[in-house]
Order: sequence, then C-alpha cells, then structure tokens
Amino acid sequence: MNNTVICPGSFDPVTLGHVDIIKRASKMFDKVIVAVLVNMSKTPSFSIDERIAFLEKALEGVDNIEIVGFSGLLADYAKERNAKAVVKGLRAMSDFEYEFQMALTNKKLNPELDTVFLTSDSQYMYLSSSMVKQIASLGGDISYFVPQSIHEQVYERLKTGARKETVK
Ligand code: ADP
Repeated sequence: MNNTVICPGSFDPVTLGHVDIIKRASKMFDKVIVAVLVNMSKTPSFSIDERIAFLEKALEGVDNIEIVGFSGLLADYAKERNAKAVVKGLRAMSDFEYEFQMALTNKKLNPELDTVFLTSDSQYMYLSSSMVKQIASLGGDISYFVPQSIHEQVYERLKTGARKETVK
C-alpha cells in the first residue's frame, strides 16, 4: 500500500513545532515528503537552500523523509509524487479556518488527496517561525523554540537584522 504523505510549509525557519509534527508523521506513514515552499507571498528571511539545509540538520537520523523545494499547486505535486495525504499541524482554533479552507480546496483540485491534521504538542501551541524571527531580531534566546543543532546558526543570521535604535 502507498503510504506516502506530504508535510508542506515555508519553514522560515523550521521550529520545534514543525519537527514534532514531521517526526510524528514519520512514525505513522511509510514516507514523508517535506515540501518547502519556494514561492511565498511574503519574502522569506531565509533562502530556499538555507531552509532546506536547516531542515536536513534538524531531521538528521529520520530515515523515511525526503526534503524538497516545491513550487506550484500542492494538489498537482501530490499527484505527481503519488502521495495519499497532506499532513498539517494544528495549533489553535486560529489555524482551523484557513487550514479547513486549504484542505477542501486541495480535495476539489485533487479528489484523491486527503488532509490529516495532527494537534500541536501543548508546549508548541504558541510557536511560529515569525515568533522565532521576532525574538532573535531583538536579541532574545531562541534555543527553546528551534532545534539545538541549528539554533546558533539561525540566531546569528537573524540577529543581524536587529534594530539599532536605543531607547532614551
Ligand atoms: P508557520 O505557520 O510557522 O509560518 P509554516 O507555514 O512553515 O509555518 O507551517 C507548516 C505547517 O506546520 C503548517 O501545517 C502549520 O500549521 C504547522 N505548524 C507550524 N508551527 C507549528 C507548531 N508550533 N505546532 C504544530 N504545527 C505547526
């Protein structure tokens, strides 16, 4: 039986919340394709190569995953890769409406494609890439939010964007 699924996202950068969802999916399915969005509506802080390199480091040792850059329609890509489902993490009710809309749209475009939602681990409910960026750019500690193997690299890259003004 084909048990390939796709975990799509911008991963700008990958957080412990993403890693938790991907690792849990890797235990449930034969293969997980981590599809990193190349064309995002917002300009990403990290290049596609950087985002993929961070994911590779963060997910080292997880055998049944493939990390790829991806552009175009997810529904088409899933068909191309013969994936049976999209796996998404759900944080709070605030994620629900958008994710529900995406899931139904993908199903319309590719009726074979289902979406599986995994509830976020309670310790990562509040965690997002944009939160990590904000904290690092203000010189805060991101080691609680980003995998240990990459947190220094991520921090060094982000803190250079820190605002230089001083409060009088
Ligand atoms: P973000 O919303 O942080 O910019 P992405 O677009 O990269 O993240 O999200 C990819 C997927 O990972 C989405 O399904 C999103 O719901 C999920 N996700 C993001 N952060 C978390 C988290 N802290 N816990 C569980 N799932 C998450």
